[in-house]
Amino acid sequence: TAFDRLNIKPFLLNAMIEQGFKKPTDIQERVVPGILNGYDIIGQSQTGSGKTLAFLLPVLNKINTEKNEIQAIITAPTRELAQQIFDEYEKLSEYFPEDEFIRAKTVVGGTDRKRMADRLKNAPHLIIGTPGRIKDLVNNEGINIFTATTLVVDEADQMLDMGFIEDVDQVAARMATEIQMLVFSATIPEKLQPLLKKYMNNPRHVHV
Ligand code: AMP
Repeated sequence: TAFDRLNIKPFLLNAMIEQGFKKPTDIQERVVPGILNGYDIIGQSQTGSGKTLAFLLPVLNKINTEKNEIQAIITAPTRELAQQIFDEYEKLSEYFPEDEFIRAKTVVGGTDRKRMADRLKNAPHLIIGTPGRIKDLVNNEGINIFTATTLVVDEADQMLDMGFIEDVDQVAARMATEIQMLVFSATIPEKLQPLLKKYMNNPRHVHV
């Protein structure tokens, strides 16, 4: 299928086919190879463009399940959006090989902090959540994210409007020294630039 061109692992390719997807959407076609090759990406596209899978597929593809550590963090401005991303992960997880199962956990506000920290004891490979709560767990519950090398910032313009950029910055600062940052946003307001400049290295800008 046309998904072959994305160079994703067979089980992810299979998940696309089994879900009845015929070909990658524009944003998927244009960002997946770059993400797999390690580029920082600024993706501008609307909800409904298939942007969730545009970052989820390559993020999952890059995870090494032999390492029991947090390798990637996906942030979204609201609990609902984080949950939607987690739901897409769950659909894909049906196709994960048993011996290469990628564990993801949600980290969102409104849940007891201690209980959430307990849930993270068996380190997930991927965290999907809101930046404030992730920052809180790292600062107050001793959750280590310095092993994480990929950060997705979804709906970055909304993050800015809601005053969450400082939290995103603090999360990024606690991750590995060299991170791959993937920013998705309908618009790229000027006020986002300091964060992008601080963490991104020669980003590829994709506008669909
Ligand atoms: P999103 O823009 O991420 O909110 O995705 C919108 C919808 O498009 C979701 O329900 C996805 O399941 C669906 N979708 C994602 N990628 C594809 C694809 N390549 N072909 C058809 N539908 C897709």
